[in-house]
Amino acid sequence: MSESKAWYAPKGLCFTCTGCGNCCRGPETGFVFLSAAEITTLANRLGISEEEFGRSYLRQVLGGRISLIEKANLDCVFWTEGKGCEVYEDRPTQCRTFPFWPEVIESAEIWKEEAVYCPGMGKGKRYAPPAIEALAGGEGGTPDGPDGP
Ligand code: SF4
Ligand code: SF4
Repeated sequence: MSESKAWYAPKGLCFTCTGCGNCCRGPETGFVFLSAAEITTLANRLGISEEEFGRSYLRQVLGGRISLIEKANLDCVFWTEGKGCEVYEDRPTQCRTFPFWPEVIESAEIWKEEAVYCPGMGKGKRYAPPAIEALAGGEGGTPDGPDGP
């Protein structure tokens, strides 16, 4: 396997979510895009049909893409203060793979800028380049090194 030439190679990047909810709450609007399979999973979790889930939890945005709705305060519809994400185990891939999104890992500068809002970035479990690239591609990727910056 060829060595990664990414800016974060060879050490990788550290991240452990603190559960602060900054990426799930307002005050700015945000989008959580879902695949058809994720809609099915969440509808099943809530014990309702996909049609009912669509009526209650989804909106069409940006060129027809499907996103979760937000509460009036612009928090994600599944964020509950004091409890966190109500569907955490089944949260969409977009949530599961943050902060290892292609646009966030593009450069050290962008990673640092994003870390201002996400206290888990740069701390905790270390992800090696292959795990980071798997997550950036929307797949699972597990930390595989000792904790620490
Ligand atoms: S902003 Fe970062 S630390 Fe806070 S909940 Fe989101 S991923 Fe976790
Ligand atoms: S689905 Fe859960 S993890 Fe994703 S934005 Fe909403 S509250 Fe946060």
